[in-house]
Amino acid sequence: MIIDEVKVGLLSKAPEPGAGELAAILEEASKGKGLPLEAAASLLAVSDEAMLTGLFAAAGKLKERVFGKRIVLFAPLYLSNHCTNGCTYCGFRAQNRDVSRRALTIEETIAEAKALEQMGFKRVLLVTGEDPRWGLDYIVGAVKAIYNKTGMRIVHVNAPPMDVDALRELKAAGAGVYQAFQETYHRPTYGLMHPSGRKKDFDYRLSVMDRAMEAGFGDVGIGALLGLFDYRFDALASIAHSIHLFETFGSHAHTISIPRLRPAEAGLKEAPWKITDGELKKVVTVYRLSVPSAGIVASTRESASFRSELIKIGATQLSAASKTNPGGYKGGQSLEQFSTNDHRSLQEVMASVVDDGLLPSLCTTCYRVGRTGQDFTDKATTGQMEKFCQANAVLTLKEYLLDYCVNGSKESVAKAIDEGLREVKDEGLKKALIEKLKELEAGKRDLFF
Ligand code: SAM
Ligand code: SF4
Repeated sequence: MIIDEVKVGLLSKAPEPGAGELAAILEEASKGKGLPLEAAASLLAVSDEAMLTGLFAAAGKLKERVFGKRIVLFAPLYLSNHCTNGCTYCGFRAQNRDVSRRALTIEETIAEAKALEQMGFKRVLLVTGEDPRWGLDYIVGAVKAIYNKTGMRIVHVNAPPMDVDALRELKAAGAGVYQAFQETYHRPTYGLMHPSGRKKDFDYRLSVMDRAMEAGFGDVGIGALLGLFDYRFDALASIAHSIHLFETFGSHAHTISIPRLRPAEAGLKEAPWKITDGELKKVVTVYRLSVPSAGIVASTRESASFRSELIKIGATQLSAASKTNPGGYKGGQSLEQFSTNDHRSLQEVMASVVDDGLLPSLCTTCYRVGRTGQDFTDKATTGQMEKFCQANAVLTLKEYLLDYCVNGSKESVAKAIDEGLREVKDEGLKKALIEKLKELEAGKRDLFF
């Protein structure tokens, strides 16, 4: 059994903890080894304002201990909006007829990736609908083409569940993280939300991360589409999913995303279980404290000001400048999956991360040096990641400053580099970092620790 749904159901109704109980849970969480499901359930029941403030502070502090100040930035690249599924909330669903569907050709995919590269991105997340005409071979072709023809350093993939052999092929093509969201872990609601197509099969979707691990993906990304069902149930189930992966394969989910339902063309008019900003903040903090090694990804489904709050309480990754329609970066018009809520450029997002006292990062190192899966989980939970994250963020910012930064934002990036360098605690590392910064100035590229 991947998730004990009865247990999650019972725990999702846990009572609010008393002050003493909360203090004991936060004390346990501060060790950075994660929390059992029962403790996560108590945290999700907190509604008292003062207690919530303590929770947010504890999560922000733990995030800094594990990953330093860095906030990783990336962009999604939508390959195809053809889809044979009937997800009630999504603009791409098959029943949405008379809309413009598009599947990028290899040349168009390369052009989109290059458009992102020119903005300064080094990491891209491929996203696609589910349609056998644009299945595994199509996605693998896109991954390979981006590596061969552009300067993108890592390609992650959010694609429909597949069997082990297909996942093996995707991994062999160089895909970094394999990501697929369960949407909701509540079976009856899942049935209602996915009335047709292959995605109807709850268990095939739930088991895909086990298959991905079996296929050699050390890093997988999970998430619940918040707003479909009770957030406490789905957040707890997401944590249970990650614990299952850890117990079975030795590594937690590499990322946990927090997609919240947005308006989509001919999609659900309203979220069946609306989740407030305050509740979403609580979910982020509980993920952070329960699965400290996981990256928590906040997309442009959220507004600029709200994302600024989320990165202070535990979120570690932001998408930026996102278009949710295939061809969107080259100005193409086609059906978008949902409307975004933060339209800022990469440069603007970077500047606001710096204003928040944090360190933007375009780092892609871990995936390329094999710091993945169990090794990543181990390093993150034993306090060994922070120094890599901090130093590598500084190096990527320097490259960005030298190659992409336009007037107006240079000052802010230069300030982040100075502060990032100053905050490197290990003197040996600081010295090595200064040397690498000089090498970048002399024309070398792609340096990392
Ligand atoms: N089609 C594949 C699938 O369903 O697994 C790939 C990813 S789909 C294009 C990306 C994710 O977007 C979905 O898993 C879902 O969580 C999210 N999504 C779909 N409709 C949305 C909406 N209206 N608002 C916010 N997120 C949405
Ligand atoms: Fe298709 Fe994915 Fe949208 Fe569902 S969420 S309709 S599977 S693109």
